[in-house]
Amino acid sequence: MTPINAYAAQTESSPIAPFTIERREVGPQDVQIDILYCGVCHSDIHQARDEWGGSIFPMVPGHEIVGRIIKVGDQVTDFKVGELAGVGCFVDSCRTCPSCLANEEQYCDTAMVATYNDRDKEGNPTYGGYSTQIVTDQKYTLHVSEKLALEGVAPLLCAGITTYSPLRHWNIGKGHKVAIVGLGGLGHMGVKFAAAFGADVTVLSTSPSKEKDALALGAHHFAVTKDEATMKSLQGKFDFILSTISAQHDYNQYLNLLTLNGTMVVVGVPPQPSTVHAFSLIGKRRSLAGSLIGGIKETQEMLDYCAEHNIVSDVEVIKADYINEAYERMLKADVRYRFVIDIASLK
Ligand code: NAP
Ligand code: ZN
Ligand code: ZN
Repeated sequence: MTPINAYAAQTESSPIAPFTIERREVGPQDVQIDILYCGVCHSDIHQARDEWGGSIFPMVPGHEIVGRIIKVGDQVTDFKVGELAGVGCFVDSCRTCPSCLANEEQYCDTAMVATYNDRDKEGNPTYGGYSTQIVTDQKYTLHVSEKLALEGVAPLLCAGITTYSPLRHWNIGKGHKVAIVGLGGLGHMGVKFAAAFGADVTVLSTSPSKEKDALALGAHHFAVTKDEATMKSLQGKFDFILSTISAQHDYNQYLNLLTLNGTMVVVGVPPQPSTVHAFSLIGKRRSLAGSLIGGIKETQEMLDYCAEHNIVSDVEVIKADYINEAYERMLKADVRYRFVIDIASLK
């Protein structure tokens, strides 16, 4: 066990502050990663403030991790010391259920182990990437290209795969009119991927000041959702809507923008449930669906796609001691478009 520096929430009402944790010794299948950058996901805020219930404290958040391998176990064949590596939202799963066998470990029937705010198979708490090192099983570790700016790669491990996966699952591409709702960490990656796949992309935002950025990110249109006339004019216009909204809102307002047979996929997880009116669905045979991150195989495919197409996240690099301010800014939708912690500030 090696003590290492981290940042943690001690309770749901305490700020994120310096904390020391221990990582397990490197086992035969493990890699040890010297963390270089860790993205700040809105899920970190939900969980650190126990907005979803069941949070485990002390909590070291962070599931958008990139770094360099400093040690490998004696049975590790897939990684070498000195290589870049990434860790996303989970670090283990049962490995035998139908979802795991189908490379969709995020939907594991019994034992997906989250990167933080969870317990591993031995019952020990898992700690995330607001820390200087992590030890992970090679099977749940990603290869990261040397070609891209590393701080921009970190958010791909959650914001990237969470938007890539549903766009792929629903075969979004040329000829589709797509709306991305909420231009934050997830939303801005959704725009990049949907545009790269050839769709006609509209950003639906509560922040008029983000229009210029939305177009620069690859969107073709921008609309402010607070404007009733605009929302009315968009009714029945979209084949596919990806909603990344992190706070309480009315689903019906967005469902009504779908065309005949259109689908809205929810990836944002507001703490409170929302009411859906049957009329929002039946009139045009619409579907409402959800999607959770992505499996290891698809996450690797997404990282490789990004390396090939030069796609990274637009980031604001921060020091670890800025984290509480970063949370406050995210809650005000003031993030352009992902905060990423420079882990050198923790060493
Ligand atoms: P974020 O960077 O804070 O972005 C959220 C955006 O939602 C804001 O920038 C804002 O965009 C919009 N928004 C906020 N409050 C709103 C409201 N009341 N009404 C309408 N729009 C609002 O958050 P994120 O990191 O992208 O995460 C978004 C959500 O996805 C969170 O709930 C997170 O927990 C969840 N998540 C889910 C998965 C999954 O696997 N399903 C994975 C990761 C994260 P505008 O300024 O453009 O309106
Ligand atoms: Zn996340
Ligand atoms: Zn499983």
